[in-house]
Amino acid sequence: MIESFIEGNKIFLEKDFERKKDRYMTLVESQHPTVLWIGCSDSRVNAERITHCRAGELFTHRNIGNIVPTHDWNFATVLEYAVRHLKVKDIVICGHSDCGALKALDVDMKGDAYIPMWINNAREAQMRVDARTSDVPTTPEEKAERKKEIEIENVRLQIEHLRTYPLVTEAEKKGCLEVHGLYYDLKTGVLSQVD
Ligand SMILES: [Zn+2]
Repeated sequence: MIESFIEGNKIFLEKDFERKKDRYMTLVESQHPTVLWIGCSDSRVNAERITHCRAGELFTHRNIGNIVPTHDWNFATVLEYAVRHLKVKDIVICGHSDCGALKALDVDMKGDAYIPMWINNAREAQMRVDARTSDVPTTPEEKAERKKEIEIENVRLQIEHLRTYPLVTEAEKKGCLEVHGLYYDLKTGVLSQVD
């Protein structure tokens, strides 16, 4: 496995690093990303790849379920550094299709110590979607639609969580920060905005 990384790095050096040497040399001294990207840890949703961003453009925080926890030092530190020190202009929360974290909301995760607690940060999204309809989804299409609605509602919910941080609302009020929701569809590769 590690050998393949070393080999892959040789390809990166030849096809990317050496060809864009100037760009990489400017990054040696400092970083000036303009976006804080909050995404899922899912291996299929690579922020730089799906947005075609260059190295140094995205300051990234990824976790299971693209969650914005309201009491978490790891996340809060990333947020504070991004907003107060890097002065990012935009924060993106990106959800995606087939999110395992949100599927787990419907599963009894017996034996897991951490996952059930963590995904409770998204429970409200599931409850909101289920409260909108009295019909229990039965067909595969209906079940898929419910899943997608929860994934999208979770992006909205995490934006609400983000706005519980005064440093976010203050920066928004000053007009120096915007918050956006995005949704990535694995089947089509399309990234779309969440209203
Ligand atoms: Zn996910």
